[in-house]
Amino acid sequence: MLSQFIDRTRDLGFIGMGFSIPGKPLYFERFSSWLSDHKNADMSWLERNIELREDPTKLLPGCRTIISLAFPYSSQKPVTPDGYSVSRYSQPGEKDYHYRLKGLCSELADMVNEIHIGSRTRICVDSAPILEKSFACSSGIGFMGKNNMLIMPGYGSYFYLAEILITEPLEFPQVEPMENRCGSCTLCVDSCPTGALEKPFYLDASRCLSYLTIEQTEAVNREDGRKMGDCFFGCDRCQEVCPFNSDEASRQVILPSTDEFLGMGNHYFKERFGNTAFARAGIEKIKTNILAIKG
Ligand code: SF4
Ligand code: SF4
Repeated sequence: MLSQFIDRTRDLGFIGMGFSIPGKPLYFERFSSWLSDHKNADMSWLERNIELREDPTKLLPGCRTIISLAFPYSSQKPVTPDGYSVSRYSQPGEKDYHYRLKGLCSELADMVNEIHIGSRTRICVDSAPILEKSFACSSGIGFMGKNNMLIMPGYGSYFYLAEILITEPLEFPQVEPMENRCGSCTLCVDSCPTGALEKPFYLDASRCLSYLTIEQTEAVNREDGRKMGDCFFGCDRCQEVCPFNSDEASRQVILPSTDEFLGMGNHYFKERFGNTAFARAGIEKIKTNILAIKG
């Protein structure tokens, strides 16, 4: 079953897959102390359901196996014809990755359920309180970089993560969690434009441009606007400098111009971008982000 399953994940486009046993996640203490330091800005949802984050068997009672999956996104930066960009993960030409990955994971979950009659599964794509990078690390997919991203040696960090929790105790080869391979590199910490990456593995979300341009309801202030460069949705700086990512700086014009965004009404935005990752921020927030850069 295992080899069939692994083949199917590859056919579906996943680039990494690994198994782990549910238990207290790696780096749980680091996560708890980060919360105690109030470094999660106003993302109070991160403080909720802490007992579920500590024990994934509470997310799916009887869970015996966790499958972690990595799905790639393009390393080309989406840009506007007038030279402004957005974070790669947003993939504005595609349906929001939550929907896409849920569909793909459902196929895999069905496969497990067909072989193991009576087993139950739960799919998580950023949709449940689970420390997904910890389990991906335990499963051997990659290691946690100093930029807090999961890194697959030989591939980099431009991918999404998803998990399938399963009640069946699948048999799989045990692996050791992958050790950090950053060595003495601190490029991500050194090049963070706002100093949000205060030290390795330690982010002050309230200063991170990803938070400021997507999650924060207030407009980005002028000072942070100057640090945004040309990127008006998210920020990839701490990944772009990472030597594990390809150094190709290719960009792809797939967005309307910033003037078109500034003149865009909600109706058209919903029609064109309502099913994409942009929907989380909404057009009014995107407009204020552009204005923060243009000053
Ligand atoms: S996403 Fe940007 S602002 Fe946030 S930590 Fe990385 S480099 Fe810093
Ligand atoms: S930039 Fe360097 S320190 Fe940061 S995650 Fe990549 S290898 Fe690690």
